[in-house]
Amino acid sequence: MRSVVLQQPSAGAVQRSPFPITAVQLLWTGPAGGLHIGFVREKRSTVWTPVTPGCPCGGDRAADPAASSRHQALVLGDESRVFELRHPQSIDVLSAVVVDTVHGPPRTGLASTGRPTDRGGAAAVEEPFRAFRSLDIVRRADWGAQETKATASRDFSPVQALTVHHTATPANDPDPVRTLRTIHELHAVHNGWGDIGYHFLVDPSGRIYEGRSSGTATPGHNAAGEIVGGFHTAGFNTGNIGIALLGTMTDRPPAAPALRSLTRLLAGLARAHGIDPQAGIMYANPVTGAASRILALDGHGGRTSTECPGARTDMELLRQAVADELGA
Ligand SMILES: [Zn+2]
Repeated sequence: MRSVVLQQPSAGAVQRSPFPITAVQLLWTGPAGGLHIGFVREKRSTVWTPVTPGCPCGGDRAADPAASSRHQALVLGDESRVFELRHPQSIDVLSAVVVDTVHGPPRTGLASTGRPTDRGGAAAVEEPFRAFRSLDIVRRADWGAQETKATASRDFSPVQALTVHHTATPANDPDPVRTLRTIHELHAVHNGWGDIGYHFLVDPSGRIYEGRSSGTATPGHNAAGEIVGGFHTAGFNTGNIGIALLGTMTDRPPAAPALRSLTRLLAGLARAHGIDPQAGIMYANPVTGAASRILALDGHGGRTSTECPGARTDMELLRQAVADELGA
């Protein structure tokens, strides 16, 4: 795993990476639409792809670069080393981070997924966590998280809300684990968040992955059942569990297995934290001092102005499905 920042890549100029590119994170200001990227392959014409803004996850403090009106997107590469950008003058591309995920530590095999209780460790809160603990969750070691790059200090808080995202990466992603590792690299190293911003991620096959490290045997949580602070919804991170669907739900809905796993995960978390998935709450953020009336379970776009988690993620249906799961 390696990554390099290309500052202020200008349109029309050829951008060169020192290694084969498996992904590029683009950060720009100006209109959301109009930016195109083309990977250049020898003796083949460049295929231009429109770049659309992804989940603008970020921290709670205004100084966080992603908390402003900038757009960011993650584009998967084809292992070429050269690309070009094309955009109108109204767009200013601030940076392109090129990533190579091929040369990270080997994965230890996804067959070895474990239920949270399988790993032992402290578990002060037992009964409400029963459904959550029954879920198969791919632990960080099993998806190849580079722990040396997870440098964040950990603050834990009681859970107030649950928030759904999409990663805005290709719907037909051939390797979701590689994408997950890319997101970890970008969030931990280049966005300065010390680790991946989301607490959990779900791939199209329904596999659930542990996101941000809790440092305990229980994904996301400490022994008291509190959640580690994430970086996924600017202004709403404290006590808010962020779950990202891998893929883009703009034109097509989440795959059925992903939706099933997401529902079970949300229901497990709702039960663990005593959350009514269909209720409105007064969310209070001790970091910013702000309080706002929000739905306890909602998409990123229900908290801040963003397309995330995509128009085809039907939050109303999801709230109902989670309520049904809790009642079952
Ligand atoms: Zn989001």
